[in-house]
Amino acid sequence: MTDAAGARPELDRAERLSAELDERQVDLLLVTTPVDVRYLAGFTGSNGLALMAGDGGGGEAGSHRFLTDFRYSTQSAEQVPDVFAREIVAGDMLAAVATALAEGGGRLGYDEAHLTVKAHRRLTELLGQAWELVPCTGVVERLRAIKEPAEISRIRAAAELADEALRDTLEAGIVGRSERDVAIDLELRMRRLGADAPSFSSIVAAGANGALPHAEPRDTEIPRDVLVTIDWGALHEGYCSDCTRTYATGERLTELARETYETVLRAQERGLAAVRAGPTGREVDAVAREVIEQAGQGAHFGHGLGHGVGMEIHEGPRMSQTAGDEPLRAGHVVTVEPGVYIPGRLGVRIEDLVVVRPDGQEVLTSLPKELTVVS
Ligand code: ZN
Ligand code: ZN
Repeated sequence: MTDAAGARPELDRAERLSAELDERQVDLLLVTTPVDVRYLAGFTGSNGLALMAGDGGGGEAGSHRFLTDFRYSTQSAEQVPDVFAREIVAGDMLAAVATALAEGGGRLGYDEAHLTVKAHRRLTELLGQAWELVPCTGVVERLRAIKEPAEISRIRAAAELADEALRDTLEAGIVGRSERDVAIDLELRMRRLGADAPSFSSIVAAGANGALPHAEPRDTEIPRDVLVTIDWGALHEGYCSDCTRTYATGERLTELARETYETVLRAQERGLAAVRAGPTGREVDAVAREVIEQAGQGAHFGHGLGHGVGMEIHEGPRMSQTAGDEPLRAGHVVTVEPGVYIPGRLGVRIEDLVVVRPDGQEVLTSLPKELTVVS
């Protein structure tokens, strides 16, 4: 897909990153996480790293460096823009980084959350006194969190495709089939509709199995008159979607099941309405959590309200009781997914995927949320 501007999005990303690095007085950032390398350099292979210049190098050819091995010589020539000087490395990548940096010196940023202790020690030895290693945790992830319009289009397409696959799966009927069979069916339908893969292993959890937030689909038949929670998503053109719906498999539900569903739905709608640029993830979490606490179910909502979604199924920003003080910003894409899990009895979770807008939110998932009976 061509981006609206027709230009390589990587150039703008490198510029935004440079501004971040300047603020931290970091001369170069070592990027080793594949998803971050892909975001910055467009490279989809498994072994590549980028050295991003803090001053941006004026965006001229060779401003930044990209290193990979000979297997990716052709692929990287096609994918990595000229703003990177490309280098094909024989052997050890970290040694090649040290060689590339042998001339200069300064502050070299790295991501504490991803560089291993072993690699850190090795780099320190190889680089010697000239370079100081500076933790820059999550710098690229925070950039990735603010989506460009073309990225939002891809996530929207993934969500639409996943919605359609679930609609088709429900039409084919789920009662009497095993959870596993329904999950496989749903995943196959997503692939047939154009998904590269599911964005994570689908959850289909009926009755008491729904009380496990990350239930594995079982070889057990889905019975009548229970709640069944389905959590699924598509990976499409490198971007993920994420959605959850809880359905009834008959009219004869327990009072507890109906009440719990209504509570979660109210919490979800309140949380959703609170999403906009400005509040922190903790504040939005609190809005939804209050509804569940007031219903006396607070102890049964043990996870955060939501998470960012993009190239990864779980990324920044987080919306939870322990989220930091960073506000939600326009361009963030987050889930809103409260749940109530009553051990041994039942579970309800309802999840939408939304884009944060300056004055509100755009919901990307479109399946109805009032309690629906499926057969
Ligand atoms: Zn989900
Ligand atoms: Zn989710």
